[in-house]
Amino acid sequence: MYRFIDQGVSSLSLLKPEIWVHCPACQKLAKIIEIQEGESETVKVFCTQCTYRKALQHIRVQSYDYMRYYFNLNQNMAEWSGTCEVEINTKCKICKEGKYKYLRQYTRKSLIPREITVSCNFCLRESRFDDSAYTLRKVSYSKVGFDPYYAYPLFLNIAVRHGQICVYNPMHLEILKSFIQADLRERKFPNYNRSYFSRLPAWIKSTRNRKEILKAILRLEQMASTIQPLTNK
Ligand SMILES: [Zn+2]
Ligand SMILES: [Zn+2]
Repeated sequence: MYRFIDQGVSSLSLLKPEIWVHCPACQKLAKIIEIQEGESETVKVFCTQCTYRKALQHIRVQSYDYMRYYFNLNQNMAEWSGTCEVEINTKCKICKEGKYKYLRQYTRKSLIPREITVSCNFCLRESRFDDSAYTLRKVSYSKVGFDPYYAYPLFLNIAVRHGQICVYNPMHLEILKSFIQADLRERKFPNYNRSYFSRLPAWIKSTRNRKEILKAILRLEQMASTIQPLTNK
């Protein structure tokens, strides 16, 4: 008898070290990776097969959504007309002590003024900034299917009778497999509602579907193992 003990796997921890998605350009494997640079974290997506790469911002995890991951992109603002955040953060060259700081959201990109006047937070001198000094960010209110432009479909994804089985990466697949295979599932996790397994749909957890789901998992394993050598280049 095989026993699975849920020690408290959260959905967030499954995102590490990388998320496998379909490249929007060539549909092959792209990887989303978090990079820690000093204090700031950047998220990058790059294709393992073509030249597609992008810097991403603000991961928004859908509560339980196999299919897609949502990001606010700093890039490709030209194609965006929705809610934007404007930030100005510049050192004052006159007093060399203070900063010009500005942060505001506009519900439409067209409402952003061409020029913004900001006062130095130290010497109070006013200065005008044109849009070349703005940092623009998309602001999205994540809704499923809201804007497919910056959603990446997961790569390890397979349709079964009841729905879709998707995993973020091969490690996630392994965890799911040992959960499905178990004859006995235990939890050693006080905050069970926050566990990844507690949020899995009932049809995945149902022992009646176990055979079919294991078959699908084996298919995903094959997909992952055939792609693996290519990513090491
Ligand atoms: Zn590609
Ligand atoms: Zn100043």
